[in-house]
Amino acid sequence: MTYEVTAATREYLLRRHGLFIDGEWRRPQEEGELPVEDPATEQVISQMALGGKADIDAAVASARAALKGPWGSMTADERGRVLLKYADLIESRSQLFTELAVLDNGMPYVLGESTGMFCSMFLRYYAGWTSKISGMTLPSSGGGRRPQDLLAYTLREPIGVVGAITPWNYPFGMEILKIAPVLASGCTLVMKPAEQAPLAALLLAELAHEAGVPRGVFNVVTGLGETAGAALAAHSGVDKIAFTGSTEVGRLIVQAAAGNLKKVSLELGGKSPVVVFPDADLSKAIPGAAMAGFMLQGQNCVCGSRVFVHESIADAFTTGLAAAAKAMVVGPGFDRSAMLGPVISKVQRDRIERLLATAEKEGARRLCGGGRPHDRGWFIEPTVYADCTPDMTIVREEIFGPVIAVQTFNDHDLERIAEQANDTVYGLSGSIWTRDLETAHRMVRLIDAGQVGVNCHAAMDPSMPFGGNKQSGWGREFGQEGLDLYLKTKAVTVTW
Ligand code: NAP
Ligand code: MG
Repeated sequence: MTYEVTAATREYLLRRHGLFIDGEWRRPQEEGELPVEDPATEQVISQMALGGKADIDAAVASARAALKGPWGSMTADERGRVLLKYADLIESRSQLFTELAVLDNGMPYVLGESTGMFCSMFLRYYAGWTSKISGMTLPSSGGGRRPQDLLAYTLREPIGVVGAITPWNYPFGMEILKIAPVLASGCTLVMKPAEQAPLAALLLAELAHEAGVPRGVFNVVTGLGETAGAALAAHSGVDKIAFTGSTEVGRLIVQAAAGNLKKVSLELGGKSPVVVFPDADLSKAIPGAAMAGFMLQGQNCVCGSRVFVHESIADAFTTGLAAAAKAMVVGPGFDRSAMLGPVISKVQRDRIERLLATAEKEGARRLCGGGRPHDRGWFIEPTVYADCTPDMTIVREEIFGPVIAVQTFNDHDLERIAEQANDTVYGLSGSIWTRDLETAHRMVRLIDAGQVGVNCHAAMDPSMPFGGNKQSGWGREFGQEGLDLYLKTKAVTVTW
């Protein structure tokens, strides 16, 4: 399959990418580069600069200084306009966004197309918030003072310098989730994107600058997690870390943040349940479960990797799910018929294959998939396992691959069904498939997750808070709560 990328994309890939610090491109202080690979072809498509601790120091210093610069004195309306212009610029580059997302991450073309749209929608939503950040006046009794002798109010202020560390699984989207509310709140930013998909953050920084975000407000240091990422998480000049990635690295972030007790928000892993009741409309539940488990090749935190289906419909459901999986075309994102692309890397492909082998050793029954559909690229067929039990590795571990483990239930007690669904250290997302209102609403309250869908899985909207319970994270992104992550409250009492 050959696909000619546009000239803009070609030019972008051919650049010798540097670090974006203080509004300009810089070489890393200790020179070094890493190849950027297209997981569908295994070919090197670009390179990224390897930033280290000294570059993080420079970026943090620039972000600190920028808090006091023109950014700090912009009116809410001005900041909102900058964000709206930023959204327009992204829209005007939508083809570049699509092609870079497909090349860097391997995602199917239609998902690539969603990245630019998602970014501009997200920015416009938070542009609206700039003019709505407000405190309260409060009825303080102020040591016995009469109301007319005292004014008590709160100010909502930017938290300061934010360090953002992002994963590779949805480039552009994962970055804009941080960028939009950080800029809307008036904070400044140092971003360390994932080494496996670093190009999105660089382009987003460049366009922010073009839209009028002053120098130093938004810096990007590409590099490795253990060096650049760790330096950012531990930096005493950083007031807050916003992290999206694995639960394992999330724990390291918390430890690193302890030095200056910086604030931390975490969007971590998941093992989300999809619960299918006997009265569910299978014509919707089957494709719904397939999308929940296989979207982005299962490389998404909300992946519906644990399916629970009532025994009475288990055969019809699993037969349908396996058929849906087999019907999914797996191929390079630029092949427009492809619904699933490759997983991100050889390391990841090998890890998933090891988990499949373990599943079989532990007695899971493979209904479909598991093979490599192409000789080149890190492709894996979507895989469905039946006869799964709660102790199996594929039921317990986040796989981050296109693998669904099906378990059955024969209970009518919703609390016991929910206990099964909640039997995981994670609590990010989940869905319930039923036509019965009572079952739906009762189950919504029983599922221990930050997000629950009824007859849909992982619906996302800028206005809807998103984040995890238990080991899936701390805090909520999206919506007003997503803005609150970057604001601090000052209580003011005035007497005369
Ligand atoms: P990861 O290995 O945890 O890496 C995430 C980011 O952290 C990368 O930029 C990584 O840099 C960096 N990092 C690694 N070690 C670090 C350290 N010691 N200190 C500071 N930073 C460090 O996760 P991933 O493999 O990129 O992404 C997959 C995971 O992300 C899954 O668990 C998934 O569930 C989770 N995720 C969660 C959400 C959510 O919203 N809840 C969304 C998407 C993904 P390198 O690239 O150099 O390793
Ligand atoms: Mg890549």
